[in-house]
Amino acid sequence: MSLTDRAAELDAADPLAAHRDEFLLEAAPAVTSYLDGNSLGRPLKATPAALDAFVRAEWGGRLIQGWTHDAQVGEGGWMDWPTDLGDRIGRVVLGAGPGQTVVADSTTVLFYKLVRAALDHALAEGRDEIVADTDNFPTDRFVLEGVAAERGATLRWIETDPAAGISAAQVAAAVGPRTALATFSHVAYRSGHLADGPAITAAVHDAGALVLWDLSHSAGSVPLALDAWGADLAVGCTYKYLNGGPGAPAFAYLARRHHGLLRQPVQGWMGHADPFAMGQGYRPDPGVRQLISGTPPIVAMVPVRAGVDQLERVGIDAVRAKSTALTSFALEVADELLVPHGVTVATPREPAARGGHVTLRAGDSGRDFRQTTARLWTEGVVPDFRTPDGIRIGLAPLSTSFGEVLDGLLALHRIVENS
Ligand SMILES: *Cc1c(COP(=O)(O)O)cnc(C)c1O
Repeated sequence: MSLTDRAAELDAADPLAAHRDEFLLEAAPAVTSYLDGNSLGRPLKATPAALDAFVRAEWGGRLIQGWTHDAQVGEGGWMDWPTDLGDRIGRVVLGAGPGQTVVADSTTVLFYKLVRAALDHALAEGRDEIVADTDNFPTDRFVLEGVAAERGATLRWIETDPAAGISAAQVAAAVGPRTALATFSHVAYRSGHLADGPAITAAVHDAGALVLWDLSHSAGSVPLALDAWGADLAVGCTYKYLNGGPGAPAFAYLARRHHGLLRQPVQGWMGHADPFAMGQGYRPDPGVRQLISGTPPIVAMVPVRAGVDQLERVGIDAVRAKSTALTSFALEVADELLVPHGVTVATPREPAARGGHVTLRAGDSGRDFRQTTARLWTEGVVPDFRTPDGIRIGLAPLSTSFGEVLDGLLALHRIVENS
């Protein structure tokens, strides 16, 4: 069967195919193959209407009273949005019970707050090392460097192969009695390697330390079970697979058993136990709300709500099934068209060991994949380039068709073939 027929067959049999029509595909008519939904998800059709309704009815209609008055939509005022939306993300995305997740800030800022909270707590017990891996996303590594300098802590780096990911055995070998915190990405941003969440969490706990998961490339793509893993802390983005839009606020998870014990350092009035008391002296909210610092980005939560609504309707298990089928198909096409030209696959072959994206490396193809990516963009095929020589094919399950994957890889094939 030709690859074109295979793609058509897979699309015809795809139980989630109809959800593609829920996205504003027509807004980008020149983009024939969007392979970067893992970096910035497409907007849902419901989002412009939801934003318009928010501006008119909520902001325009309720003005300052919107913060505290009950909304017609049956939820609390905007003051409750960070924890209400956090609870929904917990339930639909993270496998987390209520009262442990909050929406605020950016992933970088929430990551800083959680690292500081965990480290400050552990320093009091004589633990002064943070374990991390060299292939984690830059912002995580940079924040860790800053916190280590600020607090006099030591960073212990695990060298990870950028074509693979972090293993429980590597973690077990690196943690010890001085470890305060260990932090990793669940899905590696380059290779797509899917870390063993429960096993790594257990390895960190065996050393008496806390674990902080970065779920930016997992949330909305891979099923998560933070409570069942016994995870301590987690952060992640909402503008990737949750389609919250550029700069959408992030989420943070703080397991209930740490409430009142771990304390984040950016003490603002919105994380105070009683924000409107406006009295002297900071007293943190006893729950997850203490992770908030200043006024939460309410308008920016509107698109996130639409994304979580859609995911709740579809269910993460169905999303994961399609995600695996998409990455498998991308690898099948790559093996047939690109590997013979020297391109190599940097993503684990075992479906259970990878997340929702696939990275192809220039290898011996003789191409500069940075230039190749720029050329693909001009042709309406939009993957992204990741150093040193990778083209990352992000496959957002709800908005990507098998035909779209094939179109993009055929365009890459034409370039590679003519080198
Ligand atoms: C995308 C991503 C981020 C982004 O952080 P921002 O603060 O939203 O810029 C952080 N960590 C990981 C692992 C990511 O993939």
